[in-house]
Amino acid sequence: MRVCVVGSGGREHALAHVLGRTADVVVTPGSPGIPGSVDIPPADIDADLYVVGPEAPLVAGLADELRAKGRLVFGPGADGAHLEGSKAWMKEVVSAAGVPTARYAAFDRFEPALEFLNSLPGPWVVKTDGLAAGKGVLVAPTRAEAEADVRAKLAGESFGDAGRTVVIEEGMTGPELSLLVVCDGTRAVPLAPAQDFKRIGDGDTGPNTGGMGAYSPVPAVDDGVVEDVMERFIAPTLAELRRRGIDYRGVLYAGLMLTEDGPRLVEYNVRFGDPEAQVVLPRLTTDLAELLAAAAAGDLTQGPPPTFDTGACVTVVLACEGYPAAPRTGDVIDGIAAAEAAGAMVFSAGVALGPDDDAALVTAGGRVLAVTGSGPTVAAARDHAYRAVSLITWPGRYYRTDIAREAALG
Ligand code: AMP
Repeated sequence: MRVCVVGSGGREHALAHVLGRTADVVVTPGSPGIPGSVDIPPADIDADLYVVGPEAPLVAGLADELRAKGRLVFGPGADGAHLEGSKAWMKEVVSAAGVPTARYAAFDRFEPALEFLNSLPGPWVVKTDGLAAGKGVLVAPTRAEAEADVRAKLAGESFGDAGRTVVIEEGMTGPELSLLVVCDGTRAVPLAPAQDFKRIGDGDTGPNTGGMGAYSPVPAVDDGVVEDVMERFIAPTLAELRRRGIDYRGVLYAGLMLTEDGPRLVEYNVRFGDPEAQVVLPRLTTDLAELLAAAAAGDLTQGPPPTFDTGACVTVVLACEGYPAAPRTGDVIDGIAAAEAAGAMVFSAGVALGPDDDAALVTAGGRVLAVTGSGPTVAAARDHAYRAVSLITWPGRYYRTDIAREAALG
């Protein structure tokens, strides 16, 4: 099978790497760090299956365009991708489906937003309605911070048009869990659960980022939680989408919080998580290309359900100095080959070819690499990942030192 992966980040590199076990893979536009990259529009690439990685092209309707040309596509159309394109719409859909989630309301004017803030006990959560690369969410411990954030977002100061409508939510507490689910429009199968680390600093401090690391499996989560989420969250959501005429073929990424009152939905994303993909996909023991092709064709029963290695993967994201506010770029990256020689998988995100054209990679984005280690336990995989991380350097490289630390102790 020939598979075309659309995108250029760490998630697409992981997809290409795991699809490449059984398929010929091309990646567009890809990057100098991803083997098989070609900068050709996806529609001009001849492939048996197209896998659209990032949310932006899905929201913009790339999957619809390719389907209109008769191609087999894994990824929702613009209608389904609206789940991620508008958090207000997502909350409306899940409320209609009866999925347990935080109390919320959406606003484009300041005064009613303030009134709603006053009605909540806190902490307060303020989100941009539109896409903001995972950074449009503030969990505010004080009402004053929440109010200032609502003001900045609605005025378009902090996130441009993405913030001109805000979703305000009741703050929930508890460990988070990412469950990636493969959907064929009607049926869904879960992949192995993962946990990611969204804040920039050790101990979950500082601003939200696209994600600083992840691990899978999650020892604290048993099959019962996954079954419960499939039954009470995913199945009703797919049914509600179908009721609205939406044939959702792609990944539904459920961001969950395991509260004292049971699991609650934080949000849905419409693509593989990044960096969750870098720990979940390498653990697959079944054929990813076959699985995604079956879902894209609308019939998951064509193949066996996905199964996973009993071992663990941990990924640590290496970022530029100044990320997420003002990443410094253009520094030469050293040591990728050494990390790979140590058995780690190095997935590239924000990289470019240096000006000398000597094939050296330089930093070109906030998140630069995700380094995945593996082992029989989370502790072993964590050691492996951090050993490999220590081999990669550039001026000002930054990473969290506590990815999967607690899970490794457990
Ligand atoms: P989102 O982009 O909606 O996943 O939000 C990013 C992060 O903000 C989540 O992973 C949570 O850590 C946090 N968050 C979002 N919504 C809530 C909520 N209602 N209560 C507590 N934390 C939240």
